[in-house]
Amino acid sequence: MMRWLGLPARPRMTAEQYAAFLQSRAPLRSRMLRAAVLCVLIFYLICFLFDLWLLGDVTLLSATLRFGVMLPIAIGLVVYIGADHPVEKKEIAAILVALFANVCWCAILVSSSSPGVLTYFYAAASFQMAITIAAASPFRPALRASVFTFCLNYSAIWFLEGATPAYVIQHLAVYMPTVIMTLLVSYQLEVEALTSHLQMEENEALKRELSRQNKDLARLSVTDPLTRLSNRRGTEMELSRLMTETPDAASRVVLLVADVDHFKAYNDAYGHGAGDDCLKRVARAMRRALPIEAHLARHGGEEFVAILADADTDRAAALAESLRRAVRQLGIAHAHTGDRNQHVTISVGAACGPIRSDGDFEQLLETADRALYAAKSDGRNSWRVSMTEMDQRVVA
Ligand code: GH3
Ligand code: MG
Ligand code: MG
Repeated sequence: MMRWLGLPARPRMTAEQYAAFLQSRAPLRSRMLRAAVLCVLIFYLICFLFDLWLLGDVTLLSATLRFGVMLPIAIGLVVYIGADHPVEKKEIAAILVALFANVCWCAILVSSSSPGVLTYFYAAASFQMAITIAAASPFRPALRASVFTFCLNYSAIWFLEGATPAYVIQHLAVYMPTVIMTLLVSYQLEVEALTSHLQMEENEALKRELSRQNKDLARLSVTDPLTRLSNRRGTEMELSRLMTETPDAASRVVLLVADVDHFKAYNDAYGHGAGDDCLKRVARAMRRALPIEAHLARHGGEEFVAILADADTDRAAALAESLRRAVRQLGIAHAHTGDRNQHVTISVGAACGPIRSDGDFEQLLETADRALYAAKSDGRNSWRVSMTEMDQRVVA
């Protein structure tokens, strides 16, 4: 039927979606309802002048019903609409009041024996419009209220002074297009509102998905896929965070560079897959050995970098030893080290100093690298802290 009239089909939605739609429109519906009630009330009271003009014999009844009955009820309705009640209840209250106003209006007209009453009764269509506006948003209540008004008016019409079947048909010819047009507009408004609500929901879902993917991307861009540790980019970000957020702590930084010993031989002997597994276990062991506030990253290949702010050389030595011990304690067999040690181990170089710029970091990294190579030359499975006064060395 709706398709046949060229109207868009009502979009399909679940009960939850429809409830959310009604909820999202509640403030607007409440405001529109208040404005509609005020407009219709003013119109209803002004109609008293038409009663005076066209129905002089029922002036007292008109004044009593319009000002004595309907005005207080309408004021009560406006107060109720302004208060904190569910909008659905406000709409039902408005429809009931409009229907009652319609009954009063019919009572005035039916009581009159003036010939002008037949012409005046064409204004019945205005109740139809008022009720459709009051129930504008959900189409079904508007339809039900319209049918009720229709029945009311066409029951009353037979009691009008001078009403004939020909008059009723004429009246219907004017009334019906008004009913149909207002209901069609109400239907179309609801379809448009539903469609835009669904589109908004879809946009919100897309936005949420996009922001989730962006977060994933941001996380992936700073994560090393093999070890799940931070990568170089993550280290750069951590450094700039340190420099901007905690410049005091950044003026005393410990930098550790750890490198797996004889890893090429391990790969050659046990295969690249085993090498990958080994790197993962080494990374996990080192992560566990460091305090939570320390940053640990895979700097490339089988080399790792750890950064701890607000720390000194003593702390650097302790951390380097923890890292070395943690990896050695994994007990990963490596029969091809070419020396007396037959397990996977790491060598660690450490340096301490301030990081106030990217250049500072590069310099500290070079110093730690030199300490690392010193540890390697010392036979590996060891660590060195580079200090200005002296070099400290421990071999396990
Ligand atoms: P040293 O004790 O002096 O550090 O010797 P090394 O063999 O560990 O050092 P070298 O630099 O000669 O070899 C590093 C090896 O690390 C070579 C490369 O195949 C291996 N490697 C680098 N990245 C990966 C990786 O992601 N997975 C695996 N399985 N191996 C890697
Ligand atoms: Mg190595
Ligand atoms: Mg290396």
